[in-house]
Amino acid sequence: MSSPWNSGINDRRLKEQICEIGRRVYAKGFAAANDGNISIRVGENEVLCSPTMICKGFMTPDDICAVDLDGNQLAGKRKRTSEILLHLSVMRARPDVKAVVHCHPPHATAFGVAREPIPQCILPEVEVFLGEIPFAPYETPGGQKFADTVLPFLKPGTNAMILTNHGTISFGPDLETAYWRTEIVDAYCRILILAKQVGNISYLNERESRELLDLKKKLNIDDPRFHDVSCDLCGNSAFRDGYKENMPEPCGFPAPPAFPGYLAGSSAATSAAVASPATNTPQFDALVKAITEQVLAALGK
Ligand SMILES: [Zn+2]
Repeated sequence: MSSPWNSGINDRRLKEQICEIGRRVYAKGFAAANDGNISIRVGENEVLCSPTMICKGFMTPDDICAVDLDGNQLAGKRKRTSEILLHLSVMRARPDVKAVVHCHPPHATAFGVAREPIPQCILPEVEVFLGEIPFAPYETPGGQKFADTVLPFLKPGTNAMILTNHGTISFGPDLETAYWRTEIVDAYCRILILAKQVGNISYLNERESRELLDLKKKLNIDDPRFHDVSCDLCGNSAFRDGYKENMPEPCGFPAPPAFPGYLAGSSAATSAAVASPATNTPQFDALVKAITEQVLAALGK
């Protein structure tokens, strides 16, 4: 028994978890009618998923299907969702991902329809718990070509994406975390839309943005900006290779300020931290505590 997996293909608790997240997705208005799909990897080559043509708010454990990592159905009375290939693309490329949620949350999907990049360096929780939210180019849903659209953007530390003119996908080490990331993306997009109606949005300054990334590092949360020296602090440069001709251009929101990237600016930041132990002050600890509490409260923990 050297495999790290214990087959969960008949695990009723995991099937119930898919139903519970389905109820939340539907209750939040993230999936109209039969939209959306949910999956959990339960074995080396086994994935539980929601079936096609069912409202996610009313599933029972007996409705849940099982497939292998090529999408072949292994178990279940109903036919597996056609969009499972999208989930499997993520799971194959990122072995750390054990659960995927795809749905059409209206505020985030509005950005996908407007093809408006989601700006960074605005809200602390988004910087710390999500970071960059890239855009996968549009493709007709259902087939392998559609499933492959996310591949260029599955960099370490990326946990959510906009599917252009379609919806969102978020993923993580467990289903609850994968779902929260959808909630955070849609709540953020809603705040951005509201803020734009109230007035102009304001970006955090370089010090404030850098402090949030320091905090993220301290909390051991990965981010593409920790890996790519050419990545702007608040920009989309980490994904420019992936965007190719599909890179969305900011139109509704002003482009973020051009600060040196996290890695490029970190030597100056590190020497400053040595000279002045800012990260050991009671104020910094209070900031860590305040942000963590706010995020946990927002996540309902
Ligand atoms: Zn969809």
